[in-house]
Order: sequence, then structure tokens, then C-alpha cells
Amino acid sequence: MRSISEFYSYLDSPRNVVITMHQKPDADALGSSLGLKAVLEKSGHGVTVVSPTNWPGFLNWIPGCSKVVDFESKREVGEKAISGADVVFCLDFNDLKRTKQLEPILERTTALRVLIDHHQEPQVDRFHFGISDTGKGSTAEMVYDFIVEIGYIHHVDKDIASCLYAGVMTDTGSFRFPSTTASAHLMVARLKETGFEHFKVHENIFDTFLENRLRFFGHVLLNRMDVNYELNTVLIAIPKSDLLRFDIKTGDTEGLVNYPLSMLGIKMAAIVIDRDEERKWSFRSKGDVDVNTFARRNFSGGGHRNAAGGRSELSLEECVTYFHKVLPELADVLKTED
Ligand code: 5GP
Ligand code: MN
Repeated sequence: MRSISEFYSYLDSPRNVVITMHQKPDADALGSSLGLKAVLEKSGHGVTVVSPTNWPGFLNWIPGCSKVVDFESKREVGEKAISGADVVFCLDFNDLKRTKQLEPILERTTALRVLIDHHQEPQVDRFHFGISDTGKGSTAEMVYDFIVEIGYIHHVDKDIASCLYAGVMTDTGSFRFPSTTASAHLMVARLKETGFEHFKVHENIFDTFLENRLRFFGHVLLNRMDVNYELNTVLIAIPKSDLLRFDIKTGDTEGLVNYPLSMLGIKMAAIVIDRDEERKWSFRSKGDVDVNTFARRNFSGGGHRNAAGGRSELSLEECVTYFHKVLPELADVLKTED
């Protein structure tokens, strides 16, 4: 992978661009993609955003979201866009596997693949140009830096600011994770100069629960939380019957994994959800507890040191047993008092 700066001049002429991101995109993946799309369009390029799968409904407000192609439901439209592309931007993922059914198409394309991402251990040999910076709190910040460096900052308007703010705000845990840097705050200051309403972004993301979703959270915290005080860890296992009982849809479980970390002394939270096709894991931690390595080693996953995900083919009960078996790998760091 060559430096992204060597790619800048390629955008001196109008290009056909596709932007894609990881499956089940979050606010960082969608916000970065739609912010970049709008800037590139204003600069004369033709741009299509293709998501590998659908996304949580609470992200539909993001400006431009209605035009995103969901590859699972509109495969032909997605394939056509990629086959006509000069360049495919790959945002917010480190491994082509994270694009699910898009992977073989991205591998075959003759277009340039350009990576902008902040996850650990990127597959750098799969991209022509790019930047991977695990020190960045969000891909949205990296897209912002790209926009500045390429000289397109004057195109950033209120809508683009909302897109990028959604990414940086959610991936930094509302500016509280250690990955929140001075440059993130400086970027937000610059975005605020467009006049965009940051509080609306917070409301759109955090204050849009339906009653069933909030009651589901209450049910899970009351009945599904297994607290291990010896290892300062909480495990939540959610059976399919809970998802059916509360009519839980894609994205409705987002954020749940963070709650156990609000308990005094808890250093790690794990949640496993019985989805149809697989058991989906999410991990969150504090300080030196490295859930990226833990997820990579045991749950075919990865992510960041303090936020990672994974999957398993085992049954939910087997997942729980397996988790208890491998958790002692982290015992030293989990037991340490800060
Ligand atoms: P979440 O728990 O919100 O699904 O994911 C937390 C972080 O880990 C996100 O940055 C996400 O991109 C990453 N992540 C989630 N699942 C996987 C996975 O299966 N593999 C890898 N490499 N990263 C993942
Ligand atoms: Mn991200």
C-alpha cells in the first residue's frame, strides 16, 4: 500500500468513485462515507456509496443516507457501480472480509482500492493507496484530514459537518475515550463554523429509542447480566427469544455493551447475541485490557484495544462456557487495581 498522499493528484480529473465500508455500518462508517461522497461530488466526481449490508434505522437521518446502495438487497446496482469505478474508497475496516459478500467483487475490481481506516492490523497488501492510523479515534477524523490535505475544505457545509461529527462523536464515546485527541476537538471547532447543529446529531442518535428497545435494555440489565467480581468482568448472553419478545431489529442492541462499564471497578464487558446465522460478540474494556487481541485470538474478530467484536458458530450456551474458559487469559490485567 502506497501513501495516500501519492494518490491525491489522481483526483485532479473527474473520476467514477465508489465508497464502501464494513458490514452493518455504524455512524463512523456511514458518516465518513457520506461526508466524503458529498465533498467529492462538489469537486466534480461521480460517487456511489455501497454498503455491504443494511444498517440501523437510527442512522437514516444522516444526510445522503437514502441514496446508499444496500448490497444485500440491491446487488446488481452495487456490482454495476463497482464495475464502472476508477477508484473504490474503503472506509473504516482493516480486512476485506469485513465487507462480507462484497469481498470477492472488491478483490476482482480493476479500480484502485484506497484505504482510510483506524483499526488494528490492516491488510495493507490488499490496497493500492491508503492510510491506516490506529492512533485516530475515528475514521471520520481521517476523512476530514484527507479533505483538508487535498484542498477540498471549502466544500464542507452543514450537512457534511453533520456526517463527520456523527462519526467522531460516536467512535470517541461522546469525546470521552482515551483516543479523543486535541486534533479531534480542533476538527469539531472547525466543523462548528459551518453552523451545523451538533445537538441534533446527539438527539438523532441517542434520543430515538422506541419503547420496546428501552424495555429490552431494562430486561437485559436485570435478567441477563452475569457479573464476575473476581475478574471485574460482565458477560451478557442474549437468547433469540429475547429478540423476538421485544421485537428487536438491526442496531437496536447498539450501545448495550457499554452499560456494564458504568459499574465501579468493572474493566471489561462482553455481550453475545444469538443472531440467526451466528453468535455475534461485542467487547468493551478500560485501560490496558486489550479486547482486540482477545477477540482476534478467540472469537474470529478484532477491532481496537478497548472496543472489538467477533463471531462464533457455537451455540449460545457453548459460547458462554467458552468465554469462561478463555477469560483467564486476561486475568492479570483484569485483576490489577488502577
Ligand atoms: P461492535 O462491538 O460495535 O460491533 O464493534 C466494535 C469495534 O470492533 C468496531 O470498530 C468494529 O469495526 C470492530 N469489529 C466488530 N466486529 C468485528 C469483527 O468481526 N472483526 C474485526 N476485525 N473487527 C470487528
Ligand atoms: Mn470507526
